[in-house]
Amino acid sequence: MPITLNNVSFHYGKQTIFTNLNYRFKNYHRYAVIGPSGSGKTTLLQLLQGFLAPTDGTLTKDEDTIMTVFQNNQIFPWLTVAAAVNLPLKLAHKKKDKRNQQVTQLLRELQLTDLKDKRPKALSGGQLQRVAIAQGLALNPQFLLLDEPTSSLDSQSKEKIQDLLIAQQQRRQNSLLVVTHDIEEAAFLGETILIVKDAQLIVIDNPTFAATTKNRRESLAFYEFCIALRAEVRQ
Ligand code: ADP
Ligand code: MG
Repeated sequence: MPITLNNVSFHYGKQTIFTNLNYRFKNYHRYAVIGPSGSGKTTLLQLLQGFLAPTDGTLTKDEDTIMTVFQNNQIFPWLTVAAAVNLPLKLAHKKKDKRNQQVTQLLRELQLTDLKDKRPKALSGGQLQRVAIAQGLALNPQFLLLDEPTSSLDSQSKEKIQDLLIAQQQRRQNSLLVVTHDIEEAAFLGETILIVKDAQLIVIDNPTFAATTKNRRESLAFYEFCIALRAEVRQ
């Protein structure tokens, strides 16, 4: 089921964050959300997840099918990687043999198998982020929302996560919504880019998406789109 915003407004006290948003988030689609710091990106995720309710208007969605990986998503320090990935399945009361099977698969897909017995303190930023993503994917949500998942990573770890996110989204045929302040990341991940600005969502279709050449990041069309997107964000 898609997520639909009908005339959604949101205020923190007297501070207006969104005014009359109307938008429909489709199934099996990738969204990137960009916008200046403080514009309301995290607030948008909290509205979509249901942690915040619109001040006005309505948001319709299917409760169980959204999972958010928030920015300071802390992995419990006492859990191993395997136990951390197992946790959402355990909390959802999945049967033990089913859980073990799913954990093994998630660890493999997120390239965490060799790290399965390590604890968070022994992991790099990119590895920790992959654990957080594995937790987010564990219950196979229809919508996976991620708040700046690569913001503290070096460019190599960043690209690895971006590639993993696309591969998982295509395999699972779900929707992905990634908040980022990185223009290139938005252009690479988003089939649709949403710019949060002046309490509105500006919708931009990504023209470089159809050209799924192997090295899309290095194509001229990709650079040109990044330049145009940067101008749009700054405006
Ligand atoms: P972004 O993620 O785009 O940086 P946020 O959604 O976190 O922006 O915040 C948007 C605005 O709302 C900011 O000005 C922020 O200070 C304010 N804000 C965020 N959370 C709260 C809150 N819980 N109570 C009051 N104001 C908040
Ligand atoms: Mg934020």
